[in-house]
Amino acid sequence: MNVKKTLPAVALLFAAGAGMAQEYVDFVDPLMGTASTFEFSHGNTYPATARPWGVNFWSPQTGANGSGWMYTYADSVICGFRQTHQPSPWINDYGTFSVMPVSGELKIPACERGVPFRHENEKASPESYEVILENGVKTALTATRTGMIMEVAYPSAAGQYFVIDAMRGGCRIEIDQINRRVTGYVKNNHGGVPDNFANYFIMEFSHPVAEKGVMVNDSVMPGKMVGEHDRVCAYLRFLVPPGDRLTVRAASSFISPQQAELNFNREVAGRTFAETRLEARAEWNGLLGRIEVGGGTPEQQKTFYSCLYRTLLFPRELYEFDADSVPVYYSPYDGGIHEGYMYTDNGFWDTFRAVHPLFTLLYPEVTGRVVSSLLNAYDESGFMPEWASPGHRNCMIGNNSLSLITDAYAKGIRNFDTEKALKAMINQVEAQGPVTSSGRNGSKEYFEKGYLPYPDYPEATAKTLEYAYADWCLSQFASATGNADIADEYGITAYNYRNLFDARYGFMRARNRDGEWIEPFLPEEWGGPFTEGSSWHYTWSVMHDVEGLARLMGGHRAMEEKLDSMFAAPPAYNYGTYGFVIHEIAEMVALGMGQYAHGNQPVQHAIYLYDYIGAPWKAQYHSREVLERLYSAAPDGYCGDEDNGQTSAWYVFSAMGFYPACPGRTEYAIGSPLFDSVRLNLPGGKTFLITATGNGAGRPYIESARLNGKSFSRNYILHEEITAGGELKMKMSDKPNTDRGTEISAFPSSMTPLSEK
Ligand code: CA
Repeated sequence: MNVKKTLPAVALLFAAGAGMAQEYVDFVDPLMGTASTFEFSHGNTYPATARPWGVNFWSPQTGANGSGWMYTYADSVICGFRQTHQPSPWINDYGTFSVMPVSGELKIPACERGVPFRHENEKASPESYEVILENGVKTALTATRTGMIMEVAYPSAAGQYFVIDAMRGGCRIEIDQINRRVTGYVKNNHGGVPDNFANYFIMEFSHPVAEKGVMVNDSVMPGKMVGEHDRVCAYLRFLVPPGDRLTVRAASSFISPQQAELNFNREVAGRTFAETRLEARAEWNGLLGRIEVGGGTPEQQKTFYSCLYRTLLFPRELYEFDADSVPVYYSPYDGGIHEGYMYTDNGFWDTFRAVHPLFTLLYPEVTGRVVSSLLNAYDESGFMPEWASPGHRNCMIGNNSLSLITDAYAKGIRNFDTEKALKAMINQVEAQGPVTSSGRNGSKEYFEKGYLPYPDYPEATAKTLEYAYADWCLSQFASATGNADIADEYGITAYNYRNLFDARYGFMRARNRDGEWIEPFLPEEWGGPFTEGSSWHYTWSVMHDVEGLARLMGGHRAMEEKLDSMFAAPPAYNYGTYGFVIHEIAEMVALGMGQYAHGNQPVQHAIYLYDYIGAPWKAQYHSREVLERLYSAAPDGYCGDEDNGQTSAWYVFSAMGFYPACPGRTEYAIGSPLFDSVRLNLPGGKTFLITATGNGAGRPYIESARLNGKSFSRNYILHEEITAGGELKMKMSDKPNTDRGTEISAFPSSMTPLSEK
């Protein structure tokens, strides 16, 4: 790995970790994306200290309890260190609580106990979060799968308090002074889960508890233990000798207090902060190191690994391990305890595009478990989730759970019940689930009419386009598993996108129930029949049949002009049914790339469509422009919501030089590799090396390429070509090679057979 030394500016606050060789994890900046607000998102992330896909994450909290903006870079006061499950501020948190060392006078409520901090005294990394607060309190925290170990150094002997805040929404806290323990549970959730939902926690302290008390709702009661209340905080006081530190060990469980005990004993009991942090570091390095980049700038390397870290946080593992190390989980669907795997905190509308395909390529062990988790949800609720947090959440659209299964199967991950999967997929598209976003909203009308009518169904055009893609996924999966009749049936409805294309405008539009176009039509109008976008963004949502879309548009050159015009058009907008400028609109305007809105997901594959129509140098140009201009390892480093790894996974793939433009197919569309070299350390021991000679700023174009020594002129590479191991050598240039990749044999495939036009 050819990386330059770029150690973080802040020295380590505690000795553990100092002197270690620099590794991948040192390139990660968890603060990337934290400079966000309701009005404008630069990522809407928080600095998660966690294990990859961990059951619980930990984050400093600068926002008020209940605010989705848990940590905002512009804030200057930390009021807690929070165990969080929040996938995004728009979805908010559940089962959350926070802890906070308080020095001097006892202050309990979050709005009062906060202490100013400065970013120069903060060090965030995947393995730990350390900060020296302005009152002199030093904290360092490292996470395990379900727990954490925290060290606190108080600046003086006066008032060494530690507050535990269970927040609102039903909780119980008990203090066991003799055993130096606090146990309890928190429930705060946002619906969609059974009544018996709870997050049971255990916290143990290294020093004797000198004084204890609780605050129930707003009244403080020294010494008392309490039953369940809406809101409880507990406080403890310690007498830590000068030079010594308070160590806090915690673990929790969604299953039971007994399971929390098991997790505690397994992960943190008797273990030190230093060794636990090294374990976390090793775990992150192992996963980040499956991709080794060389060359590029140190800044680009930091951005790459910061994005890869974000891609490896969600979906969250909701399963724990019982006494026999068997995976078991609390089902957010039926409230039962089951053996097996369960994942949550993922909106597939975002993550089917690149996050799950990245797992399928480099972390296939995760993909297999995710698919079995979908089938478990189907068993327990009758449907697969489309947006889980922790159960079915009513958010976004589509049947993109099907994409996960089809992509996994197509790429050789088959360690799940394929018969049940087919049943679950058919049910998902034929029936409406417990919330509008699970199952298929308007299934009957969609199949009858070949589209969803507007305004009968909100977001009807976006839904139709996504349903057609899901039907294609179902058709592919049915075909691959030997169910030709089913494959044929959904292979027809996969063409339903055609019914909403208006050739007079060259855009996807909405139709009413009588088949008439909804007037007036403005391609720049957001919302209404579309979802967080306009027709400019959704017209490209035919990833399974780009050739078919090109024919509707009048051929390859006409589609190329249409794509060109998206980047050339002014970023005009009409906020339509939203009634105000939603943050995604503001972000598009700020990008300066016309109507191309990389800050939101529906258009994120569109650049790669140039590969399907014989203009691959334009995919190279625009993907490089996005890589260079729209990402940086800085608090404002994303150009819109990061969204559970998706916007990061776009960067990870695109920086490697290829992208899964149509998950479910084994082809990756080729873009412009950012680095001189990328080595994929594939599961099973094979490696795939991508090199780009003559690369650099202003040199995004592929002049020529060789795959395993043979001339390579395709605009796509196959999954099996990568997993077999080998080498793709590219020669980069500052000028487009307009002869390369123009033959139809070079194009990625589509449902519609390729033609010369
Ligand atoms: Ca988004």
